[in-house]
Amino acid sequence: MAAHTGPTPFLVVDLPTVARCYRALAGAFGSARVFYAVKANPEPRLVRLLVRLGASFDVASRSEVDLCLAAGADPASLSYGNTVKKASDIRYAHARGVRLFVFDSAEELRKLAEHAPGSQVFCRLLASGEGSLWPLSRKFGCAPDMAVELLRAAPALGLDPVGVSFHVGSQQLDPARWDPSIAQAARIFAELESVGVRLRMLNVGGGFATDYLRPVPPIDAYAAAVRASVRRHFRVPPSLVAEPGRYLVAEAGVLRCEVVLISRKHHHDEKRWVYLDIGRYGGLIDTEGEAIHYRLVTAHDDGPGGPVIIAGPTCDSVDILYERAPYRLPLALRPGDHVDILGAGAYTVSSATVGFNGMAPLTAHYIGSEFPSAADADGE
Ligand SMILES: *Cc1c(COP(=O)(O)O)cnc(C)c1O
Repeated sequence: MAAHTGPTPFLVVDLPTVARCYRALAGAFGSARVFYAVKANPEPRLVRLLVRLGASFDVASRSEVDLCLAAGADPASLSYGNTVKKASDIRYAHARGVRLFVFDSAEELRKLAEHAPGSQVFCRLLASGEGSLWPLSRKFGCAPDMAVELLRAAPALGLDPVGVSFHVGSQQLDPARWDPSIAQAARIFAELESVGVRLRMLNVGGGFATDYLRPVPPIDAYAAAVRASVRRHFRVPPSLVAEPGRYLVAEAGVLRCEVVLISRKHHHDEKRWVYLDIGRYGGLIDTEGEAIHYRLVTAHDDGPGGPVIIAGPTCDSVDILYERAPYRLPLALRPGDHVDILGAGAYTVSSATVGFNGMAPLTAHYIGSEFPSAADADGE
């Protein structure tokens, strides 16, 4: 952090920390294949580092396909996991060697049959986002009976049904929340086996939590819960796939911003409004609904503090970061002071707008080598 000065806001991402998180997760999940969800942070250096560490990649668009291939990823290591794809993008990915796709509807399955013939396909199941801070329920997945019907239809369409996928919601705080979906998957595997379709892969998605303000279970607890659940529900264990985004990159990032204004709306207000030079439009999308509570650090944290409402710099009133969450900041804080936002490596640069109110998109510096070293494996 100290090495970087210059105009705020900016993000600093420590690549060796990404390597350490990758090794912790891949180690905990044993033989599972790990697909990095590129949308969490699509920086080429970071993707190249993960290629060197042996990761595979979950991509959602044509440009994420290009990014991974340019970073040296084998097309066979890409999974096109978005269940909402343009036909032209399916054709594009298929022409570049991508052979693994996810669908959750009859129409998408038909599109895959036409534009990605011969590919392996996962069917995504609806999953409750309960227990997570950023649910991905409702919009993605289908009911189990529909999944059975669609996977059963896949071979006749010239596709290879390999398994099912689901996502229990991002920043999922409870490792036990994978169990209901794994049980459901096991029933689908059994039902299809009875009609001669042998599924082989179980994609347990992402959702593994990172420490923000409150501590979360260690990655080993997630892996142990998932693996125990698979043993419990499956007679023949499928190959496991995990798709972490946030867990791999959040911890590595520190976002430095600056206080622009501190004010009160009435003379007697106890709560101060603290306006930062970053907000919802500048990369802090995860504060939507006050879902993610980032840890904030200032140079005055040793002194007395008081309650605050924290807002971004734009001319939009949705650009309020925390109003209900009981944040406190030092009374000594002044305009021009820095505020460091910890755990900001995920979903920040990838979600900043290109220039709402003329404010430049978030800049980022990537520090440390993009070549993994043996030392990264030693832990802290
Ligand atoms: C975003 C996403 C992920 C990553 O989720 P995290 O909660 O960041 O781990 C994994 N799989 C799919 C399909 C996604 O859309």
